[in-house]
Amino acid sequence: MRDPQSVPAPEPLLGATEIRRLAEELGVRPTKTLGQNFVIDGNTIRRIVAAANIDPAETVLEVGPGLGSLTLGLLDAAARVVAVEIDPVLAAKLPETVAAFRPAKAGNLDVVLSDAMRVTELPGVPTALVANLPYNVAVPVVLHLLEYFPSLRHGLVMVQDEVADRMVAGPGSKTYGVPSVKGAWYAQMRKAGVIGMNVFWPAPKISSGLVGFTRRVPPATQASRAEVFAVIDAAFAQRRKTLRAALAGWAGGAAEAERCLREAGVDPAARGEVLDIAAFARIAEAKVPQIV
Ligand code: SAM
Repeated sequence: MRDPQSVPAPEPLLGATEIRRLAEELGVRPTKTLGQNFVIDGNTIRRIVAAANIDPAETVLEVGPGLGSLTLGLLDAAARVVAVEIDPVLAAKLPETVAAFRPAKAGNLDVVLSDAMRVTELPGVPTALVANLPYNVAVPVVLHLLEYFPSLRHGLVMVQDEVADRMVAGPGSKTYGVPSVKGAWYAQMRKAGVIGMNVFWPAPKISSGLVGFTRRVPPATQASRAEVFAVIDAAFAQRRKTLRAALAGWAGGAAEAERCLREAGVDPAARGEVLDIAAFARIAEAKVPQIV
């Protein structure tokens, strides 16, 4: 039998009491605009960190560390954490919180005061993104970071449950749309669980979902990412129309749209919601002027 004294006690995480005390000390009133719902449950933090499959040598990028609930869990699992926070009061407090709760790990944290949708440079080379994302900007944040930080090879994000379903949806499903297909350009996305409302303060009105992702090689194409994304935007802007009609504006006429679709091996009478990312890439490539 193992000597119970040899099993180290789990490091303390922030519970409801600590979160409220920190918020009170800072005079913070969580705002909806910044999606400020703080996790007050250590088990949820442990679950997110376990599902993120972090290698102990990794640098993890966390977006929106807030009062530090997830940051502490990430510091226990990773070599470094780079935390990007838009709220200056929360960003300034985070190193103090880490020094108080994880004194040995305080040197492993970098805090960047910035909007995660605009950040283009970070200290270190993060290889994983793990975050409880601000819900109103979750998808643009993930797409922006995957675009600008090719070193990110996997991740686990918490978003609104219905957004999680959209991010992981495959062609033909009701929830398949722009987030699914643009996400698929960069990564394979999978649903990694559902989280109830009571683990947050303040509690949101809807459940949250966990989305795990692993970066993939984008489809091979002569078209640029921006050109492929322009086709996706056009196809889903009028998702009930046939692709021939929906892509007429993008192509400069319905006949040219039909030519591109046929060249890409796509039925012009089909709708965008049945196409995978490779098909969107072929359509974009069919419009790219061929150099002979
Ligand atoms: N990680 C903390 C937790 O789990 O308790 C807080 C998560 S809370 C859902 C979202 C956090 O993202 C807040 O701290 C908020 O201030 C921050 N935030 C909102 N918009 C942001 C943006 N554009 N860039 C960076 N941080 C942002």
